[in-house]
Amino acid sequence: MCAVRRWQIRLSLAVLCVAMIDAASAVTLEVHATPPVIVPQVIYNGPRDEKRIAITFDACSSIHMSQVDKKLVQILVDNHIPATLFLGGKWVLDQPKEARYLASIPYFEIANHSFHHPHLTRMSAADIRHELAEAQAAIERVTGVTPRYFRAPYGEYNATLVDVAASLGLTTVQFDLASGDPDKSFTAERLSKWVIHKARSGSIVVMHINTHGWHTAEALPEIITALRAKGYQFVTVSELLNEPFPAPPGMALARNEHHLQIPVLHLTPHSHLH
Ligand SMILES: [Zn+2]
Repeated sequence: MCAVRRWQIRLSLAVLCVAMIDAASAVTLEVHATPPVIVPQVIYNGPRDEKRIAITFDACSSIHMSQVDKKLVQILVDNHIPATLFLGGKWVLDQPKEARYLASIPYFEIANHSFHHPHLTRMSAADIRHELAEAQAAIERVTGVTPRYFRAPYGEYNATLVDVAASLGLTTVQFDLASGDPDKSFTAERLSKWVIHKARSGSIVVMHINTHGWHTAEALPEIITALRAKGYQFVTVSELLNEPFPAPPGMALARNEHHLQIPVLHLTPHSHLH
C-alpha cells in the first residue's frame, strides 16, 4: 500500500504540473481526447456512516465458453437490486446478447475485469495495459458502455497495475467482504450466514455471476431479505462512492433487443442451468 500511496503523490504532482502547463498555454483540446485523468487508488469500501452496501459480481473469463448464472440474474432483476458487474472482455465476446441484456438494466453498472483473467501482477506494464484496454474495447463495442471501474483478477494487484488502470481512466475497486462463493464447499446456508454476519455500512461484497459461484443464486434471496431487514440499501459502486451514476448504459443499443433478451434469461423455478 505504501508503494501505491507514493505513487498517488507522484501522480497528483504530475496532474498539478499538467494543469499548470495547460493553464499557461491554454491548450485544452487534447485533454478531452484521452481518458479522464484520475488518481490511482484502490477502493475497498464506501462511507461507513450510511447503511448502504454495494454487492458486486465478477464475470471471470474462462478458456472455455463463458457462462452467465441466469437464475442469479433473474433474482437481481425480480428484486430490483442495483449491482456493479465486473465483466471479463472475453466473457463479453463469448456471449454478447447476455452482456447487452445486463447492460440494458438501468440499475446495473458495468465494469472491467480484464480480458483473459490472467495473473496481472506477473505481467509487464505494457502487457497489463493491453489486457485492460482490450477488455475496455470489447465491453464498449458490445454494450456501448465505457467502464470507469476495474477489478483485479484473483484479488492480485500492485502499484504498476493500479497505475496502468488509472491511465486508462479506471479506478481499481476491490472489496472488503469476500463472499467465498467460488468455493464449491461453501453451502448456500454457510454463504448467506457469512455475508449477512460480515456486511456492514459501506461494504463492497464480491460474488460471481458466472457458474464459478456454485451456490450464489441459492443464497442470494436470503442475503437480500436479511440485509434489507437490517435497514441496508443496495447501491452500485458509483452510488456508494457518491460519484455520478452514468446514463443507463447502452440503452439505445440494447432497447431493440430487450424483448428478445428477457425470455432468454427468464427461468421458471424448476429450470436447470446448462
Ligand atoms: Zn475473476
